[in-house]
Amino acid sequence: MSSHVDEQVGGQQSPIDISGYVSGGVPELSFEYGGNAECLTNTGEFVKALYEDGGGIRLGDEAYQVVEAHFHNPSEHTVEGQRFALETHLVHRRESEIAVVGVLYRLGAANAAIQAVIEAAPGQGEDDVPVSGMPASDFLPSGRGYYGYMGSLTTPPYTEGVRWHVLSDVLEVSAEQVERLAALTGGEENSREVQGLEGRRIASYGM
Ligand SMILES: [Zn+2]
Repeated sequence: MSSHVDEQVGGQQSPIDISGYVSGGVPELSFEYGGNAECLTNTGEFVKALYEDGGGIRLGDEAYQVVEAHFHNPSEHTVEGQRFALETHLVHRRESEIAVVGVLYRLGAANAAIQAVIEAAPGQGEDDVPVSGMPASDFLPSGRGYYGYMGSLTTPPYTEGVRWHVLSDVLEVSAEQVERLAALTGGEENSREVQGLEGRRIASYGM
């Protein structure tokens, strides 16, 4: 590898285009969310709901704790080449391990959970806003099927070894909501381009 290549960036980067997946070979994903978010924060690039005691997910026998939800417009993952209007990332930790659940939205009816974020979130440079609700379960569709693969964080330092779970059940969000959410972080798109699969396998579960 030549010296100018970032050492963190190998062959396991995210997001990806989800296509050519095979059924099985990944564990059941179950949700054990419960507690409310602590606050909404605005990093300038992302609006985030932060969790300290929000429950988490279970992947087979392994429990991961939810730490945040944040939003990308448009979606980072594409499915069969199709990009979506919005993508929520629910980020979980198990000691140093990271597991992310991605939720996709197509344009359509307004989404209640996204509306709650828009109405409560601080603007750029403003203080965090405490919230009294917004459990991570508010962001989930009803379906539990997902596409699983090994990838990375999609923002610096692009750390690899991240377990990705993009839910197959797509939600709806209105065009006005996408615009208002984006406006909170300056109106720019905040999604990384699709990365090469580099021989990785994408598995589907529960579809
Ligand atoms: Zn993200």
